[in-house]
Amino acid sequence: VDSVPNANTTALASALSKAMASIHQRGWCDGTGGNFSCLLQREPLRLLMAPSGVDKGSVNARDLIQVDGNGSVVAGQGKASAETALHLEIVNTCNAGAVLHTHSQAGTLLSQWALEQEGGDGSTPSSLELRDLEMLKGLEGITTHACAVQIPVLANNQDLQALSAEARPLLGGAPHGVLIAGHGLYAWGRNLGSAVRHLEILEFLLEQRWRRLLLQALTAVSAS
Ligand SMILES: [Zn+2]
Repeated sequence: VDSVPNANTTALASALSKAMASIHQRGWCDGTGGNFSCLLQREPLRLLMAPSGVDKGSVNARDLIQVDGNGSVVAGQGKASAETALHLEIVNTCNAGAVLHTHSQAGTLLSQWALEQEGGDGSTPSSLELRDLEMLKGLEGITTHACAVQIPVLANNQDLQALSAEARPLLGGAPHGVLIAGHGLYAWGRNLGSAVRHLEILEFLLEQRWRRLLLQALTAVSAS
C-alpha cells in the first residue's frame, strides 16, 4: 500500500541489482557484506535496498525491499539491515540519491590503520588524507589533481543510531565518502550513477594509498 510500484521503481531496481552484482564481482562485498540503497522518493521517504544477510552478487531486482524514513520495511520480503540507519542519515544530511556501502580489503585495512596512526581510542573521529592524484577529479566538485581530501574515519560501532549521530556533523565536509574503522566505506552521490562513480574513485584512491605506503616502506628499507 505504501510502496512505490511504478515503471521508475522497476528501472531503478534493475539498475541497483546490476550495480550490486558488479560491485560484488570486484570483491568489495564478500560473504553477504556491504549494503546498497537508492532513493525512490523523498516525500514520504522511500528507499530501495537489498535485504539483510543476502549474497549481494545475486540479488534480483524483485528481491529488493522498500523501507521508509524510520528504516521499517514497507514492501518486499526480508529484513532491513541495521546499517539502514546510516543510509538514511546520509540520504537526509547529504541529499544523496544513492548510498553504496562496501567491505573492501583496502577500506577495511586503511580505516583501521588511520585510527591506529592517530593513536586514538576511537572516541574522537580520525581522517585519512588522499592527495595529488588525477583520479581525485572523479569526485564531484574537484577539477585538479593538485588537491587533498580528508575522508572521515569513525570507530566501528554496532549501535547504528550512535554511529549515525557521530557521522552527522562530518558528512557535509566529507568527499562523498566516510570510512568506518576495520569495517568499510560508505560512498554516495546525487543518483546511482554518481554514487557508483564516487565508490569506484574512492576505492581506487584507497588502493593507491596503501600501495604507496608499502612502496615507501620498501624504499626506506632498501636505502638503509
Ligand atoms: Zn557493513
